[in-house]
Amino acid sequence: MAPLIFAHRMNSPAPLPPPRWFDFQVNGFAGVDFQAQHVSLAELERAVAGLRRHGVAAIFLTLITDTIDEHCRRLEQFEKHRAASPACAQMIAGYHIEGPWLSPEAGYRGAHPAEPMHAPSLAEFERLQAAARGQIRLITLAPEWPGSAECIAAITRAGVHISLGHTNASEADIDAAIRAGARFATHVGNGAPLTLHRHDNIIQRLLARDELTACFIPDGVHLPPFVLKNFVRTKPAGKVLFTTDAMAGAGCGPGRYRIGRFEIAVGTDGIARQPGGGGFAGSTLTPDAGVQRTANYLGLPLETAAHLWSAAAAHAFGITLPAHSNS
Ligand SMILES: [Zn+2]
Repeated sequence: MAPLIFAHRMNSPAPLPPPRWFDFQVNGFAGVDFQAQHVSLAELERAVAGLRRHGVAAIFLTLITDTIDEHCRRLEQFEKHRAASPACAQMIAGYHIEGPWLSPEAGYRGAHPAEPMHAPSLAEFERLQAAARGQIRLITLAPEWPGSAECIAAITRAGVHISLGHTNASEADIDAAIRAGARFATHVGNGAPLTLHRHDNIIQRLLARDELTACFIPDGVHLPPFVLKNFVRTKPAGKVLFTTDAMAGAGCGPGRYRIGRFEIAVGTDGIARQPGGGGFAGSTLTPDAGVQRTANYLGLPLETAAHLWSAAAAHAFGITLPAHSNS
């Protein structure tokens, strides 16, 4: 009998450690694209199981630029799945809406389609939030659109965080956004053209604002590690956070994936590229690898990086993680 017992033990999956990480920008995972026309409950559960395998306790499911109608349709679909599946409800702690209130300028819009982009609107926010049953927690927008300050003030009053991103805002626009309640900057150093004025550029304008918590993608690709190190050094203590900005290829190997209507190629280098070999289109970083890279690139103790990817991020966005995942 002993060999049989041994064989049984060898074949049993090792128990997973308690999930710990919180990631506020996840566009897809384990081959599942959250921006797809239709995401079935089984597909969402597959993505959630993949996240769980990588130690993730909770995410903000992130939708990139599309029409408000399409966003509402997707949010209703995800809310149905959350109601049907406790695992999905627990993993999806809210939604991050990244677009369509972004800059359509080439370079600044990144991998997002320009056509649906337009000025923010409170009426549209209310439609989105109703479709999401109040679960939208974070919105990335470009504050150079007319009416942004009024929208930011009303949206933050409604308890939703505002982050500046995919933007070429002036200092005056950034001032107004901060006065209205914006407190974050989305994937700083990305969502910007490859070449910029050496001083007066959006990366410098955002990094200079101590009021904004700067969010970075520490995959070693979106920002060279020495750039990440310099950027983090510009910020006051407690004013940096990290995210994967993961797309469907995260947690999978090289291959062809999608973000909405766009096909994205993930190479053997793990880099997700826009069609035609263009810029980056999300990352394939997983949060557990993100913790390691944050520690390695910044020379931080692993527990400090772990705190930034768990309790610090959850606290910044007002999310309560399961008790065992706090650190
Ligand atoms: Zn982005």
